[in-house]
Amino acid sequence: MTESTEQPRVDPARREELGRRLAVVQERVDEACRAAGRQDRPELIVVTKFHPAQDVRLLAELGVRAVGENRDQEARAKAAEVADQDLDWHFIGQLQTNKAKYVVRYASAVHSVDRGDLVDALDSAMGREQAKRRDQDEPERAPLDCLIQVDLDRRPAEEQPAGIGARGGAQPTDVAALAERIAGSEQLRLRGVMAVAPLGQDPAPAFAELAEISRRIRQDHPDAAWISAGMSADLEQAIAAGATHLRIGTDVLGPRPAVG
Ligand SMILES: *Cc1c(COP(=O)(O)O)cnc(C)c1O
Repeated sequence: MTESTEQPRVDPARREELGRRLAVVQERVDEACRAAGRQDRPELIVVTKFHPAQDVRLLAELGVRAVGENRDQEARAKAAEVADQDLDWHFIGQLQTNKAKYVVRYASAVHSVDRGDLVDALDSAMGREQAKRRDQDEPERAPLDCLIQVDLDRRPAEEQPAGIGARGGAQPTDVAALAERIAGSEQLRLRGVMAVAPLGQDPAPAFAELAEISRRIRQDHPDAAWISAGMSADLEQAIAAGATHLRIGTDVLGPRPAVG
């Protein structure tokens, strides 16, 4: 061989750690499904934000099929680095409309659709992405799966602790109209709902409310059956409430590095 492409060094200790942590989380998921009397198993989305692309590669080798990211620039770079792996990229963070054109290049799903102008931006970005692929004689991509993020925190903004999900999310009363807007778009597929449990509170009532919102949406949109709920600290309560997709970061990857 005269030339070799540069391969990042695989760290066997990290691989072992990720495998061990992943197994513990899978076991918790199994146990929670048993406790809830569920026959189906929710899909595990491993949230890799702040962690390097090499971790995503190791996770793919360990059998993970879906990863979650909350910042476009970081996600875009990682998705390009690990493009050889068969992974679904789920975008789960607050999204500015001007980033829609990038997200549709790599994401199979956006869990954080929370306003009409974002629906329109994603729809037109998808239209342009499909046109570009046709021009380049590439196959079109699948429709973008969209979940409506619902804000379940009733406290006034100034009383909510800062943290994941503290900003963003549609009000429950706005969900029906947003669902219509997504369902009426050209390129987006309405898949369901997503929420982050209010920080510092019992997650069970919030997840019960999300399940009820999901039930109402499905009356008009029977295929919109995804319920994206449950993070490291509350996956058991989310499974009990019927979550179909879990978003787990810390308990699989360890604490996030302070700066990313
Ligand atoms: C970071 C993040 C997660 C994962 O949280 P962990 O507590 O690390 O499991 C889930 N959902 C969203 C929206 C996030 O931003």
